Amino acid sequence: MSKLELKLSFWGLLVASFLVSSCKSTDNSILNPTSTNNTDITSVVQSKFLTNKGVTISVNGASITIKSDGRPNNHKSPYWGVGNALYEPMPSGHVINPNKMVAQNYSMTIPTQPTAASSHEATGLGAIGMALNGVAIFNDQEGPNTALDAGKISSLDASGAHPEQTGAYHYHVTGVNTTTDDANLVGFLRDGFPLYGRKDKDGSYPSNLDTYGGHTGATAEFPNGIYHYHTSNINYLNTGYYILKSGSYYGTKGTFTN
Ligand SMILES: [Zn+2]
Ligand SMILES: [Zn+2]
Repeated sequence: MSKLELKLSFWGLLVASFLVSSCKSTDNSILNPTSTNNTDITSVVQSKFLTNKGVTISVNGASITIKSDGRPNNHKSPYWGVGNALYEPMPSGHVINPNKMVAQNYSMTIPTQPTAASSHEATGLGAIGMALNGVAIFNDQEGPNTALDAGKISSLDASGAHPEQTGAYHYHVTGVNTTTDDANLVGFLRDGFPLYGRKDKDGSYPSNLDTYGGHTGATAEFPNGIYHYHTSNINYLNTGYYILKSGSYYGTKGTFTN
């Protein structure tokens, strides 16, 4: 290598390192000034998912994979079917839908340190996250561009869930076994950020939620603060149910396979 080449590569390195460090500080301040801590969710995921009910957790470097059979193995539902130990009748005024609940083979992979995305993808049909018992979380859509309506709501059980055609049981709204009017941790969305009930841990309803239904602050599980979603605080179609999550992800969604 000649002297000139050495000089050039030296200046190249200097410029490159300057660019990297300036990018970093710019990204943090522009994207989210209050969430630069990149909270690690690993220990909460390991302790809060119901591994005693068949959910399995594996950590691989910067990602965590959570597997389940997708059924509510910790609570009753009419969709377990008459004769099952976990069977209970539908709430009054609700009508069981003809889809039978079937065990699934879910695998959701999320980052150990979820971060804000630069562009926010809309949540779609199918699983947008997983509750602590391994059940899939769906948004407020029941089909392509079809929001849940009163008819579909009437097929939800007391947990705000029902199975779709392939038998995949899923939560759309709040219910007695996830969250009602509280600050419960419901589960994690596919971007790795946690989803909580309508309240914050101090018992108040958050008043500063962003477009994605979340904000940064302390929770029972993350006392040093983390970005987290809240379920909607709007009584959906006056049904007494509240949508768990609609709209776009705050972070970048990981994989959810079945
Ligand atoms: Zn549904
Ligand atoms: Zn909050």
